[in-house]
Amino acid sequence: MKEETRILHEIPVDELTGAISVPIYQTSTFVQEAPGVNKGFDYSRSNNPTRATLEKTIASLENGSQGFAFSSGLAAVDAVIKLLKAGDEIVAVDDIYGGTFRAFEHIYSKFGISVKYVDTTDVTNVIDAISRKTKMIWLESPTNPTLKISDLSSIAEIGKDLLLVVDNTFASPVLQKPLDLGADIVIHSGTKYLAGHSDVIAGLVVVGNEELAEQIKFNQNASGAVLGPFDSWLTLRGITTLQLRIEKQCQNAQHVAEFLSTCSVVDEVFYPGLVAHHNHDVAKQQQLGFGGIVSFSLKDDSIEAATKFATSTKLFKLAESLGGVKSLLCHPASMTHKSTPEEIRHKTGIKDSLIRLSCGIENCDDLLDDVNQALAAITYGEVVV
Ligand SMILES: *Cc1c(COP(=O)(O)O)cnc(C)c1O
Repeated sequence: MKEETRILHEIPVDELTGAISVPIYQTSTFVQEAPGVNKGFDYSRSNNPTRATLEKTIASLENGSQGFAFSSGLAAVDAVIKLLKAGDEIVAVDDIYGGTFRAFEHIYSKFGISVKYVDTTDVTNVIDAISRKTKMIWLESPTNPTLKISDLSSIAEIGKDLLLVVDNTFASPVLQKPLDLGADIVIHSGTKYLAGHSDVIAGLVVVGNEELAEQIKFNQNASGAVLGPFDSWLTLRGITTLQLRIEKQCQNAQHVAEFLSTCSVVDEVFYPGLVAHHNHDVAKQQQLGFGGIVSFSLKDDSIEAATKFATSTKLFKLAESLGGVKSLLCHPASMTHKSTPEEIRHKTGIKDSLIRLSCGIENCDDLLDDVNQALAAITYGEVVV
């Protein structure tokens, strides 16, 4: 069976009633026959049947041994960092998700965990950064928002004794399976592609072995940021159409990226599917497609020009987040990466005019028309409120 068929049919039919949709077990606790004698569930922080089905499904999608669902992507990040202890060091991709950066710098630093940020698109930078204190390598590929690609299997090879964590939010398991490439742990903001309809906040962790599974399970239960039954159901339902959505989003993004590359007001276009992309070959090797996100900067590298574009699109809605069925657009310098210091922002290529487009499942011609008219607004200066 092909993967999309397998995943759909691994999601079980309810044994009790035959319901084809997974029941939402909206309950906090489960009645026991005698103390400690139960049907496998005793308290919904520890385990819940709806969440358990989602956890099984994401583990299967990532070819992992076990999955865990959290109340947000950052809660998933939190459960993974808590594998470390004071004195440990992380080597992380420099163009890291802003929220993860904020947690590293302002929370975990207080508990003695330090992070070195390097440009992981060049494997030698990772080798140079590893010290005796390094316990974990933290990658995103493609990154947010400049779509940098790191060679996951080469980095897994050099960091064999370290935990390799890959935030796979941007690629989704349909396009990339980090565990197959040597990673130990995969993280998702399920809020984005997995749920896919901009209607839920969720996080997921998948591990490749039982020892890690036990530790993450412990952290999930002990820290308690679990995903609720209804949100687990929404995420699960999103996954049933993941492959279809991703295919369309990849097609749309490729066309948008190619179109932007021909526009005179556009400076750089960042999309792994462009042959000109720095690590296009690596992306081609480790991904089955190039994803739905395209970023670009303007020749007029000003916040004003970017704002003009961002307020002139009609289909691409100006909003945080990405990966939904409706196209979204974001201006990282003033939105997602506001908490990243300007100096680091500029060093990692997040220019003032950088715009990130999340292509939805609309008709491609309509998206191209929208981008075109918003670019024209920069040049001709339509009224912007
Ligand atoms: C959104 C996002 C997160 C955080 O997820 P939330 O669900 O918003 O907590 C982490 N990593 C990446 C790459 C993201 O895009």
